[in-house]
Amino acid sequence: MSDQQDEIIKRDFYARDESEQADFLSQTWCNECMEVDLGMKNPVEYAKGNDVWIEGECVQCSSKTITEIVEEDDE
Ligand SMILES: [Zn+2]
Repeated sequence: MSDQQDEIIKRDFYARDESEQADFLSQTWCNECMEVDLGMKNPVEYAKGNDVWIEGECVQCSSKTITEIVEEDDE
């Protein structure tokens, strides 16, 4: 194992299934609007160690929103 686990890696959000993309873009929480599911634009996916998240902008107020992704690893 390397000791690079804290390195943040940028991933290709658009490599995901379209249905997954749609889910992640609609299932959001905005700290500014204090509302769920307003939607996100300009998504960028990041990974760090086992953590994966998507950063984008709130459709309503354009402030930064982050959606954490829980990926099941059954293997
Ligand atoms: Zn907002």
